[in-house]
Amino acid sequence: MNIEQLKGIGPKNQLIFNKMDIYTVEDLINYFPYKYLFICFKELKNLEDNESAFVKALILTPPKVYYIRRNFNYLSFMVKISEFEVNVKIFNRAFMQNNLKVGREIVLVGKYDKIKNSFLASDIRFNLENNKIEPKYHLVSGLKENFLVKAIDTILTSKINFNDYVPNEYNEKYNLISKKEALNYIHKPNNTEEIKKAKLKLIYEEFFNYTFKINALKLKNKKVLGIKRNIDQDKVDSFLSELPFKLTTDQLQTITEIIKDLNGEERMNRLVLGDVGSGKTIVAIVSILANYLSGYEAAFMAPTEILAKQHYETIKGYLNNLNIVLLTGHLKKKEKLQIYDQIKEGKIDLVIGTHALINDNVIFKKLGLVIIDEQHLFGVKQRNALQEKGEIKPDVLYLSATPIPRSYALCLYGDLDLSMIKTKPNKRKEVKTIIKTEKEIKDCLYKMLEEIKLGHQVFVVSPLINDEEEKNEINSVVKLKEKLELAFQNKIEIAIIHGKMKQNEKDQIMEDFLNKKIKILISTTVIEVGIDIPNATMMVIFNAERFGLAALHQLRGRVGRNDLQSYCYLISNQDNKRLKVMEESNDGFYISEKDFEQRGQGDLFGVRQSGDIIFKIASIQNDSKILLQASKDSMDYLVNHKYKNNSYYEKILEEINFLD
Ligand code: ADP
Ligand code: MG
Repeated sequence: MNIEQLKGIGPKNQLIFNKMDIYTVEDLINYFPYKYLFICFKELKNLEDNESAFVKALILTPPKVYYIRRNFNYLSFMVKISEFEVNVKIFNRAFMQNNLKVGREIVLVGKYDKIKNSFLASDIRFNLENNKIEPKYHLVSGLKENFLVKAIDTILTSKINFNDYVPNEYNEKYNLISKKEALNYIHKPNNTEEIKKAKLKLIYEEFFNYTFKINALKLKNKKVLGIKRNIDQDKVDSFLSELPFKLTTDQLQTITEIIKDLNGEERMNRLVLGDVGSGKTIVAIVSILANYLSGYEAAFMAPTEILAKQHYETIKGYLNNLNIVLLTGHLKKKEKLQIYDQIKEGKIDLVIGTHALINDNVIFKKLGLVIIDEQHLFGVKQRNALQEKGEIKPDVLYLSATPIPRSYALCLYGDLDLSMIKTKPNKRKEVKTIIKTEKEIKDCLYKMLEEIKLGHQVFVVSPLINDEEEKNEINSVVKLKEKLELAFQNKIEIAIIHGKMKQNEKDQIMEDFLNKKIKILISTTVIEVGIDIPNATMMVIFNAERFGLAALHQLRGRVGRNDLQSYCYLISNQDNKRLKVMEESNDGFYISEKDFEQRGQGDLFGVRQSGDIIFKIASIQNDSKILLQASKDSMDYLVNHKYKNNSYYEKILEEINFLD
């Protein structure tokens, strides 16, 4: 039912509601209060100084209006509160003057100043009942609170019924109240208990509904039959035992999960979430080996040439029995054609490359495994294109260095299986992180010099390429180069790299940096991507307040990739609570939790657009327990076909072609 059919809503109000994304009566009833006002009258003598309170008062003198300047006035008058006579002041309510008649009983909302014997009111209310709970809604211009409350009340007192999306068995299991009660309590609660019950119901309902869909997608993915294999575990084990280091528990667990997926008949669709430096590459290598042992080819796609090349060198070292090629846009045409031929003939066991792998000429003979590194940097299309190569559907493994809380991952990537590598190889030293203001920049320059004298290298990061975009307060890449050359009297090799440069220019500079020809590399965040420069022991980030915690953490992960002590200087003139988190910890999962707390789920870690998941009442952050439970339940509901006879959920499954 559209809202214009609701009594009392005309075309003008309809437009206002539409602006708020409210089109139907159901939308309106699901427009929930963002907070509640607990009305409880207080006695003046019981009030603390400047405590906010509701106080009953009797008007003693006619209010006088004082105009301070345009659009700024205040009213002043005397009232009686119990046996006390008190002066009242309230700003910008000149329009109330005529309503405030001597002898009228009112309720003052505001603070009492004991010394001045004066009450500074933020609001004056008439006919306000004691011990009531008042819902507060976000309003937009043109929409009066009274009107909204009345419209909602009209719906609540009507005969309209709203679907309860929680299947009965879960309503019973958790003693959830009915949908009708929940809507009544959330909009018109009599006590806090009712609010609690209503919230539990509505939050669970929202999560159940959401996770049902995402779980259905996951199951649908799983229906795709994969390759059935029989991997020789002894050979895998002997490979593991010959590694130069001991794998962490999480690495081993992840490898076990992957091998189980590979052996199983369902297609693998797994995401490995692990912080920078947690050792995801070796996990990928073991997967490639297992795939090879069962007689299949693999493709490994990285987001940049440099990274692809680095993986190529690393993996060749570990898997020297395999025929491995590097395929990037860089190669000459002849070389490419040669590689295409070899792949087509099935002579290649592993192709490592950039999105050049997606090229139509790349045709595999027996592609069994696709690995996508730093998956969040590829578009969905690119990721999928690689999976469509070859007759059979290959298993797919995604790697991501964006650590996020499990509850959040569940919402974002609920359609994938998830492995988390939380622990890091312990030989690593934590990167020491230090916040400095620009005035203290000398400390930082000395430290840079010290590190360079030790033969190490330094990353410098700025949020901007040059100054045109914004004025002075930002140190752009270009400006920083000038400043640093001046500071070091042109005696140190400094170069810049940024996103607007051509790919081959960038590659050349990274090459020179890797070969230590360049000592200080100034960049924008292009170096965020997982490149390994073990000799870089210091990073200086200017205007650090401009970056999100996620970005700072990713950036900082570029140093400390060896057993030397590394440093990260965050330069900022602002006192910034967020930056302190960086000083506190090197743990990406911890930092993401903090980011989550401080900024909410909105633009968390920039993983996907914030608009992707918006809940009306549930919060991934505060209600994560309910989320995990609802997800479990909706999975059970699906797997055990309990959705049959529930037309709402059956329809959802039809829409995603789940049932055929
Ligand atoms: P990322 O997860 O960021 O991709 P890498 O896989 O590149 O991390 O690993 C970073 C470094 O840590 C590599 O040099 C790798 O050889 C090393 N490494 C990986 N696992 C371990 C381990 N269990 N113990 C010690 N070093 C390890
Ligand atoms: Mg990596």
